Amino acid sequence: TKLSLATLASLKGRAGLPAYRREDLTPGILHFGTGNFHRAHMAVYLHELFNTGRDLDWGVIGAGVMPSDRRMHEVLKGQDFLTTVVEQDADRSGATVTGPMLDMITAPDFARIIETLASPQIRIVSMTITEGGYFIDPATGAFDAAHPAIAADAKDPEHPQTVFGLIIAGLKARRAAGIPPFTVMCCDNIPGNGEVTEATVCGLARLSDPAFADWIHENVAFPNSMVDRITPATGEREIRMTAEAYGIEDGWPVFCEGFKQWVLEDRFPLGRPALELAGVTFVPDVAPYELMKLRILNGGHAAIAYPAALMDIHFVHEAMENPLIRSFLAKLEHEEIIPVVPPVPDTRLEDYAALIESRFSNPKIGDTIPRLAQDGSNRQPKFILPSTADRLAQGLDVQGLALVSALWCRYFEGTSDGGKPIVFNDPAADRLHAAALASRTNPDAFTGLADIFGPVGLDPRFRQRFGEALASLRAHGTADTLRRYLNGTL
Ligand code: NAD
Repeated sequence: TKLSLATLASLKGRAGLPAYRREDLTPGILHFGTGNFHRAHMAVYLHELFNTGRDLDWGVIGAGVMPSDRRMHEVLKGQDFLTTVVEQDADRSGATVTGPMLDMITAPDFARIIETLASPQIRIVSMTITEGGYFIDPATGAFDAAHPAIAADAKDPEHPQTVFGLIIAGLKARRAAGIPPFTVMCCDNIPGNGEVTEATVCGLARLSDPAFADWIHENVAFPNSMVDRITPATGEREIRMTAEAYGIEDGWPVFCEGFKQWVLEDRFPLGRPALELAGVTFVPDVAPYELMKLRILNGGHAAIAYPAALMDIHFVHEAMENPLIRSFLAKLEHEEIIPVVPPVPDTRLEDYAALIESRFSNPKIGDTIPRLAQDGSNRQPKFILPSTADRLAQGLDVQGLALVSALWCRYFEGTSDGGKPIVFNDPAADRLHAAALASRTNPDAFTGLADIFGPVGLDPRFRQRFGEALASLRAHGTADTLRRYLNGTL
């Protein structure tokens, strides 16, 4: 059955369905980046809240500024913006058709995005535009005012094309019309994601109108959040499985694990949906939750991605079935990462790590090593290097974390241990590849990439451990190097 509002009722028994009617929803949120994660996470929480019959004035208008969002727009429009979310756990699977999205606006229709942002109905502007989408120098954390897209928006603030320029134009139009500002809610995996978003919005505003930048700083709320649900990309496999297992023809279904978590700061001057009724945890300070997640979960992903890629392993659960990779992850988490994660209210970090291990091992979710290995230039500085820096500051050894960096370097040489070519998916791929090749004669060539490694890359203790690990990877290969790390002979 082709998915649409008209065919919804006929899907009864095959999938969970909205208990609310589309015509009863009105827009309250504009969301930038309606990729897989948004549709597996925030949209599902809203769907579950709407199912209780509450807060139907918080429907979502999707927005996309990338040329690639056009295709998603066409596919979603063709199915009335409904999405089939397929949850896949080891012991349970199920499909739910979710319907919180009412419409989508994509580039080059920037004028209509600004018009919608200026509408009093929109009270929250949220976003999942990837870790790399914030125009932040990864090493220093400073706003990159020199980026061509930022320079263009600064020069012509009335016709912006970035998410941030659009937000500024929307806020300006509201202020001119006497409409109070919306709340800006970032849902990307970035430490201090609300603060980072504010830094970029205010940094861009300052380039054309410093007084307005001050006004934003004083008047707009940017709550921080911690978001979690493993959500792989959609391919032919997922589209076929949705049709075969549930009889639903969905052009862009979303697969994810059953687990989901969202911890959010309660700063919403224009109100918010009662998401606590759908399981969201509201706290005064997200920082401890966020650090735990970024370092233990995302850091864990970033640690297993490259050894698995070098050993020609495709799926994440297959990596976890490999005893060397599994033990490498466990030793790294328990001996190096967890000891420098600050305490989290009501949470035992060892329990959290055990949960992560079982989530990574989920054989049905189909998460892939290429997905985890992509975009390392934005991820390693957020997920791995902060743990390394904290250990160095406390005078602690960094052998395992330096091995993670060395595996990443070895990966960027471009061939697996088995001799297969590696396909890079990283905005800094050319530079990383060149530095990895140069590191064959001088390991400091890689750790000296200052915008990525920052001061950690200059620390002699880190360089020593990195050099040892890299030499072992080249002399003995990935499996044997992991073995040496595990038995203490690296
Ligand atoms: P996706 O590829 O399905 O979607 C990414 C979306 O971001 C697309 O709509 C794209 O157009 C937009 N985008 C990319 N670069 C942009 C830019 N420079 N400016 C504006 N928009 C941009 O990816 P996804 O799975 O939805 O993941 C997106 C983000 O969600 C991740 O980077 C991460 O921060 C967060 N997240 C993902 C997961 C997960 O398991 N997938 C888990 C937790 C958090």
